[in-house]
Amino acid sequence: MSENSDTNCSGKTSMAADISLKVTNVVKLVESMVNTRNKNTCDKILSELNNINTIIGSLNFSDGVTIVPAEGNNSEILNKLEQISKKLDKPRNNNESTKNTRPKTKAIIVKPKSPETNPIELGAEIKQVIKNCESINCENIIVNAQATRIIVRDDNTIGKIKEALKNNEIGQKINVEQLKQLQPQISCVITTDQIEDINVIKRRNQIPEDQAFEIVVNKEIPTKSKFKRNYVVFRMSRVAREIIEKRGKIYIGCEATSFRDNFNVRVCSKCHRIGHTEKFCMNESVCGGCNVNHHTRNCQQTKKQISECLLCKHFGAVDVKHKPKSKDCYSYNAAIERIVQITDFDYQNEVSC
Ligand SMILES: [Zn+2]
Ligand SMILES: [Zn+2]
Ligand SMILES: [Zn+2]
Repeated sequence: MSENSDTNCSGKTSMAADISLKVTNVVKLVESMVNTRNKNTCDKILSELNNINTIIGSLNFSDGVTIVPAEGNNSEILNKLEQISKKLDKPRNNNESTKNTRPKTKAIIVKPKSPETNPIELGAEIKQVIKNCESINCENIIVNAQATRIIVRDDNTIGKIKEALKNNEIGQKINVEQLKQLQPQISCVITTDQIEDINVIKRRNQIPEDQAFEIVVNKEIPTKSKFKRNYVVFRMSRVAREIIEKRGKIYIGCEATSFRDNFNVRVCSKCHRIGHTEKFCMNESVCGGCNVNHHTRNCQQTKKQISECLLCKHFGAVDVKHKPKSKDCYSYNAAIERIVQITDFDYQNEVSC
């Protein structure tokens, strides 16, 4: 009998050690997943948690001792992880992810009335006022050197924010305006430079006459081939985009072509910073090939000397070892996110995570 209870005891100890080891693994995995948005890691965590649940489920001691996980059961975490795993299945920055994972948002802009007021300090005060109102739920508050942009979900919240700011003493120092949402843009590549009149394209794509639809860029892509190719960007209303998106193709020239969202992020080719173009650049030239103070087009080096992303380096991002504008490019993707937040898309299935 005493021998039997000994076995029982060491069995429990080893199972407890097993569980504790697995929990430690899960915590490590969660940390690395949050850092990298890694689908593989997410799935590993899911399987580890399932293992833990199985072990806990199999615990059945003859003396009636059971081990109950500290947080009740793991099903809530499992659901959450399954949701994240599904989200990570989708590539970022394509039509699908923009449509299904972003909630529809609106934005208000708060600017100081007088040039004497420091917009950054004002932004901090605005944040505080909003934070103090428990009933206000806003998505994001972005403060920059000109204004404070407050991103919200609905008109109701906009009303509440306006009211809260008006009733506060900073109400006298500010102008509040609602930001007009940007119209969605799509881009495509076509194999001709001969395209029809915009109204013809509109009719062929069955876009109602009263819907905005225009070409904002149409330029030839340099090529050595005799076949010309053009890069075309359309800007349109939400309704027009919905029609084209449902079809998955846009009829233009003599083809039905695929397209992708175009976010028109301004990237400066002179100083390699985001937010303006070369035409408006006040900074010194930086070479994208060798990181010296001359314009990239005047570079004497025949081979690219640097492997860092200058956009992210100038932005102050931690990870700079990637290609600029690639899917790992933090500063570029953050700029896209900001534009997505103020673009009039049709979001149907809201996923919060
Ligand atoms: Zn610049
Ligand atoms: Zn150079
Ligand atoms: Zn980058």
